[in-house]
Amino acid sequence: MNWISDDQRYENAEFRRCGRSGLDLPLISLGLWHNFGDVDSYATGRSILRRAFDRGVTHFDLANNYGTPYGSAERNFGRILAEDFAAYRDELIISTKAGWDMWPGPYGNGGSRKYLLASLDQSLRRMGLAYVDVFYSHRPTPDVPLEETIGALIHAHRQGKALYVGISSYNAEDTRRAENILKQEGVPLLVHQPSYSLLNREIEVDLLQTLDELGVGCAVFSPLAQGVLTEKYLAGIPEDSRAERSRFLDKDSITDKQIGKVRSLLALARQRGQTLPQMAVAWTLRDPRVTTAIIGARNVQQLDDTLDAIKNITFSSEEEKLINRITI
Ligand code: NDP
Repeated sequence: MNWISDDQRYENAEFRRCGRSGLDLPLISLGLWHNFGDVDSYATGRSILRRAFDRGVTHFDLANNYGTPYGSAERNFGRILAEDFAAYRDELIISTKAGWDMWPGPYGNGGSRKYLLASLDQSLRRMGLAYVDVFYSHRPTPDVPLEETIGALIHAHRQGKALYVGISSYNAEDTRRAENILKQEGVPLLVHQPSYSLLNREIEVDLLQTLDELGVGCAVFSPLAQGVLTEKYLAGIPEDSRAERSRFLDKDSITDKQIGKVRSLLALARQRGQTLPQMAVAWTLRDPRVTTAIIGARNVQQLDDTLDAIKNITFSSEEEKLINRITI
């Protein structure tokens, strides 16, 4: 029998409008960068996705090279979509991206039209989809004319293979340029996807302000700093943690200084009656310019814990000051 989602799934779900578009995104979205590849448990990944949707998470974020090996997160997601979510496609916002290394040779990485459009076709095939909701340029590529990279997004949009387009990790100036190129072709820039957490506040310098001015949404990634903003690294590096298992989280980056900050933040989270992951995600959402926080989860318990962040996303000015003292 087909899986049936909880019919109360939208009861406690909250959404925010993505920039000046007509699209709402859930306060918390789920990303499939880690934990959904062929090296991971398919059954666990499937449980995480079911649970997320049952709790009103309508947005799933992917990229061509997510999972180990590359492409496997999209393939596994496609299988779960077909097995469990076929009836729910129109309740889902599915995004994918191209820009980082994907296949060998000069056309499998970067910002060329050749790469982006071929990659989107491959992503659609892996996920068994006719279109994605959002197609992103995954990173700025200064060696490629921006007109070409953004032109590829426009083409995908016109083909109907992407309902909306986005950019990731672009600075404020290139964001303005990209938005302008899109605007001239009548294609709105829906969303920007930058890194943002208590341990990485760079977007506060000028990107958030720029997005607000342009009416572009902001989907922040790694709000838990890949798991550093949890209690797991307080007494060393656990074997099952990302720092131990993934090349993307360097053990050496988890310094004593960093852990000192985490301890102080944990004390504040406890005072607020939240777990540290909950406070960390809530903090990114305290700013209405942030549309959604894209989290990762290795199991259903982590997901359930983090999703409870939305129960309290308000911070007093004293709490803000204390956080600034700890993190800046
Ligand atoms: P997070 O900062 O949320 O880190 C997720 C990791 O933190 C989990 O895999 C787990 O790691 C740990 N964790 C999560 N919840 C808990 C909890 N409640 N208690 C204890 N540990 C917890 O996000 P990610 O770095 O995974 O990124 C999220 C998404 O953002 C990605 O999947 C992707 O979609 C997007 N992204 C986009 C990028 C871009 O360039 N556009 C770059 C990076 C991410 P552990 O295994 O150690 O337990």
